[in-house]
Parts: sequence; C-alpha cells; structure tokens
Amino acid sequence: MLGTMDRTDAVFSATREGALARWEEFLPRASDYSALRNRVQPRHPHVSRLSPAIRSRLVTTQELVESLLATHAFTRVEKLVQELLWRDYWKGWLELRPGVWTAYRRELEHLKHNGDPAILHRAQEVMAGRGGIAVMDRFARELIETGYLHNHARMWWAGYWIHVERLPWVLGADFFYRHLLDADPASNTLGWRWVAGLQTKGKTYLPRRSNLEKYCSPVWMEDTTGLERIDDAVVSTLKLPEEPAATRVPWMPLWERPELPAGRWGLWIHGEDLTPDLSALGRFQPECVLTILDDPLMQAVGLSEGRIAYLRHALADARSRAAAHFGCPVEHRGEGSLAHHLAGVAREHRLDGWVAMRPAVGPLADALPEIESALQRAGLAIHWCRRRWDELRWPDAASGFFPFWEQTRARLASGTKPNSRQGVLPL
Ligand SMILES: Cc1cc2nc3c(=O)[nH]c(=O)nc-3n(C[C@H](O)[C@H](O)[C@H](O)COP(=O)(O)OP(=O)(O)OC[C@H]3O[C@@H](n4cnc5c(N)ncnc54)[C@H](O)[C@@H]3O)c2cc1C
Repeated sequence: MLGTMDRTDAVFSATREGALARWEEFLPRASDYSALRNRVQPRHPHVSRLSPAIRSRLVTTQELVESLLATHAFTRVEKLVQELLWRDYWKGWLELRPGVWTAYRRELEHLKHNGDPAILHRAQEVMAGRGGIAVMDRFARELIETGYLHNHARMWWAGYWIHVERLPWVLGADFFYRHLLDADPASNTLGWRWVAGLQTKGKTYLPRRSNLEKYCSPVWMEDTTGLERIDDAVVSTLKLPEEPAATRVPWMPLWERPELPAGRWGLWIHGEDLTPDLSALGRFQPECVLTILDDPLMQAVGLSEGRIAYLRHALADARSRAAAHFGCPVEHRGEGSLAHHLAGVAREHRLDGWVAMRPAVGPLADALPEIESALQRAGLAIHWCRRRWDELRWPDAASGFFPFWEQTRARLASGTKPNSRQGVLPL
C-alpha cells in the first residue's frame, strides 16, 4: 500500500518544485518520447510521470508546451505536445457535454446498488488482482499500490476488463478513478469510453497478446498464466449511446482581470487548480487564502488513501506558495463541508465573499450549486476565474481530436512564439 508521502513525492511530485525538477530531468529526453513512450517498464523511464501534478495544476500544460517549444524544434517533440493537448481536448470535450459525466455517475450508482451480484463479485476479484491473467493482475496491484499506470497498461487493462472479462465499463472506470493519483473526470471517463468503443464511432481498443509481448517489460511477461484468454478476446459490442451534442458553453462572465466590486475578498484554493498565483488571480490581493481538504466530497466518490494523501500534500504546497506570493493569512480546514468552511472562515475574516478558479466538470463542480446557494444564504458572493488558455482551447473541442489538433499544430509548427507579455500561446 502507498503509505508514506515521502514515497509518493519521490515518484510522483506533489509539489510544484518537485514537478518542475522532474520536468527538467525529463526535458532533454523529450525528443525520444515518440519512439519509446509505448514501452511499459519498471519505474516508467520513457514517460514524464507528471500526470498527478498536471491534473492538480501544480504545473500547467501551457507552461510545459511553452517549455518544449523553447528548447526543441517542434517536429522533434510533436508527439509529446500532442499528448499534452489530448488532455486539454478531453477537458474541453467534457466541458461542452457535462451530461456524459452525469450519465456515467448515474449508471455507476445504479450498478453499485442494483447490479447483478455475480457480476459485482467478479468485478471485485479482478480489481483485487485475482482475475487469473498474471500480467493483468499485476497491473491491478500496481494501480492500488502506486496510484499510477502507464498509458499503454491503462489501455490493455481497460480492454481486458471490457472485452475479455466483459464487465461493465463504468465499474472499471470507477476503480481507476478511486485509485489513480491523476484521476481526472475527463481523461478517465473518456479514455474508458474510447476503449469500450463508445467515444469514437467505429473505434474500439482490443488488447492483443502480440502487442503485450512487444511493449511490456519481459520481467512482467515471465508469468504467462492466463495469457491465452487475451488471444481469444472478441470485441464486446456495446450499444452506442446517442452522440451528445456539444452545447456551446454558456461561458459565464468569468473574471479575467481583478476588478472585483469593492470589499473584502478571500481566495479559495482547491485541488482542481493549485496555482491560482500563476493565473489572472496572481495580481489579486486577497484578505486571506483558504484551502480545504474536502473530505465529504472525497468520501462520496470513494478516493483511495493514496490519492487523498497526495492531495493533502499538494494543498500544503499550494498554501506555502500562496503565503509567499500573497503575503496574507493562510488558513486550512479539514473535516466538515465545503460550504460550512467557506462561510465560517469568511465570517472570521469579515469577508464579502470568495474568489476561486472555476472547477471543470467533475465532483467539485457537481457540488457548486449547493455551495453557491449556501453562501448566498449567508450573504456571501463567489467570483470565478478561468484560465485564458482554457477559454481559448476548450470551445474547439466541439468535434474530434484531429481537427482540434490540426488547428493547434499548424500554429505551433509555423513558429508562433509564446506571447511573452501574457505568457499565452496565441492558439
Ligand atoms: C482508460 C484510460 C484512463 C485514463 N485515465 C486518466 C486519468 O484519470 N487522468 C489522466 O491524467 N490521464 C488518464 N489517461 C491518459 C494517460 O494514460 C495518462 O495521462 C498518462 O498515462 C499519464 O502518465 P504520464 O504523465 O507519464 O504521461 P506522459 O506520456 O508523460 O504524457 C504527458 C502528459 O500528457 C497528458 N497525456 C498523455 N497521454 C494522454 C492521453 N492518452 N489522454 C489524455 N492526456 C494524456 C497527461 O497530462 C500526461 O501527464 C487515461 C488513459 C486511458 C486509456
């Protein structure tokens, strides 16, 4: 079990400084990424392992893309830039179709409470690493013990779950979501839908023994128990849901420049974005900063101890950076509801309300209506900020990845330099 933060921080940085150090170490090898990234090996040397930090926005995809372009010719790092943009694409795609997340959560709750007991039992066995295919059982244990799986292993394992075990994809997606340190409503839900053949018409991911033998470390392939079941896999045909139409986001008036109504405002920093100091909010002068380890929310989605420990550590890092940047009192709250703490700390600091980064579709965004109305009842306002990078990129995720990518690629490859004044690539 992933017990100590020391171990987590050594492998998956839970601080901005650690994540940037890992990036500096990885950067010289970024041009080998395209050739080596599919190899699944102990300690995952060929990939950045930065996803937990990117997920919590200890570092942003924007700054990583800028750093790649500042140090390499575009063509030498194109694949890595593309993968970083996959993340932004999935975020935008789900933001434009929040109903896909709601439907997934609804189906999950339904299955957990009303699912066929034999299926639920088999799902438990496979998740516990007792499915009977040695290499897949190893991946299940790796996920539980480290909170990470290589992308190729995620594909193999999700494909095994859906097409070999023929288990409901939402239960597998939930297993990943609870254990991954980088658990992301967009990348995880849509990654699973893609493997299941629900995301891209005509595309399903079926694991192949030859592919495992080619890319998976021989150390992990020594035990061939059960591998013949992978040979026999046949695509399980799932009923395609109706393609959800992209709602042109009613982009709310988001606050880009700190021109709040006069008054006393606090800054709430949450795990969806741990670097508001590096956004438009960096120019803001809050009366206080608050972080909350949102336990009730975490328990509702059942996050693993490892993921909670990671968040606790990353929030502490955000507080120490915020204290240095904003020079105001910094508060932290643990147990109790988010709305309760936001109202309580606002009273203690005589605030008119809060300013925060707007969470993207997911559990925290689901909780916002309740939080907003509780604050309203307490006479408090909340103002949201969204990054310019997201404002620019997300609306382009209305259709497939390749139109999204081609548009971005053309601009990057034509040598467009980062706009130094705003630090935003003019995509
Ligand atoms: C079934 C399934 C579930 C997944 N669940 C998640 C999840 O919950 N959270 C998550 O961050 N990623 C998820 N991914 C995408 C991908 O597997 C991880 O982002 C990647 O393995 C993280 O490792 P890394 O940081 O070493 O990646 P690197 O290869 O070093 O890539 C750098 C960054 O690019 C982004 N990226 C790379 N590949 C992808 C991809 N295929 N899709 C989206 N973004 C990508 C990530 O932010 C990653 O950190 C999932 C993929 C699948 C197939």
